[in-house]
Amino acid sequence: MRSAEHLKKARELGGSERAGVEKIQAMLQDLQDRSMLKTLERTSYAVEHKHTFSSCRGNLRITAEGVEFKTGDTDHSFYETYNTIRSFSVEGTAFQSARGTTRSTTSG
Ligand SMILES: [Zn+2]
Repeated sequence: MRSAEHLKKARELGGSERAGVEKIQAMLQDLQDRSMLKTLERTSYAVEHKHTFSSCRGNLRITAEGVEFKTGDTDHSFYETYNTIRSFSVEGTAFQSARGTTRSTTSG
């Protein structure tokens, strides 16, 4: 966070060029996004995995590369990168997902 503070200071002092200020703001935004992502990566959320007729419970973790779900209830634990995941939707603490490579085993 030290670098973010430094950039904030630089912005307060005022860049001589407007483009410079915008660049700093963009960098700040980027740093904030990264720190948010870091927080997300450290945190796993208790979620409900929705199936067609039932659900199981586990923990969801969001990383820079994809989504990870871990559960002891069923064998539905998975890790999917944003490249391979076909669909992913969250509703409150419940989520549904569909894989792009293999057929989903979440019919039960
Ligand atoms: Zn499940």
